[in-house]
Amino acid sequence: MKSIAEQITQLKGEIRRLENKYSRAENSVHLLAVSKTKPLSDIKEAIACGQRDFGENYLQETLGKIHELSGNAAIWHFIGPVQSNKTRAIAEHFQWLHSLDRLKIAQRLNQARPETKPPLNVCIQVNISQETSKSGINESAIFELAKNIRNLPNLKLRGLMALPKPADTLEEQREQCMRLKLLFDELNNQGYALDTLSMGTSSDMEAAIAEGSTMLRIGTAIFGARN
Ligand SMILES: *Cc1c(COP(=O)(O)O)cnc(C)c1O
Repeated sequence: MKSIAEQITQLKGEIRRLENKYSRAENSVHLLAVSKTKPLSDIKEAIACGQRDFGENYLQETLGKIHELSGNAAIWHFIGPVQSNKTRAIAEHFQWLHSLDRLKIAQRLNQARPETKPPLNVCIQVNISQETSKSGINESAIFELAKNIRNLPNLKLRGLMALPKPADTLEEQREQCMRLKLLFDELNNQGYALDTLSMGTSSDMEAAIAEGSTMLRIGTAIFGARN
């Protein structure tokens, strides 16, 4: 098996190739390494080859990692479902939240964000495939939530996130990614200066880059399969 450093180098090359293929600006697609369930040693290996952004889903597990790695310049992104009882720890320890889908959670995060820290960067998670099992807000409710987040000074709305349902072909994957991009463009047309379109995982990164992703969330293709 390849080392994590080799996987990251290969992945970055692949991202540059796809930026070029789809006429995206060089370095316009950032890499968020999804390290959920993976040990500290794996994260350290990624940090050693220059990776800074890490995505995690499980709060207790991540708080331990953040503590252990506090001397490193790692940036922590929470990408999992958020219950009310997790908002304080997320507001205190993370720089980003990709999975915001309710006003009540936004208000709690705003209240809990320490004054000493810059606003928490947030993305609204959209249920793009309209699956009842998936978290995320319905498309029609995005605009109201975005408007309300504007009134919360300790949150900074950066963009939209989605985890589309698995699709077999590049065309089907692109169709879902395109829907999120259209919503992103619509918000920017309304005056939101959003810069982050969080879409694309190990299995649909080409479709995501083709449709305008600015941040890929990649786990398996860096750290290998999860147990
Ligand atoms: C686990 C996870 C990923 C990473 O998926 P891979 O297929 O391992 O690349 C991306 N986004 C979210 C929200 C996840 O939970």
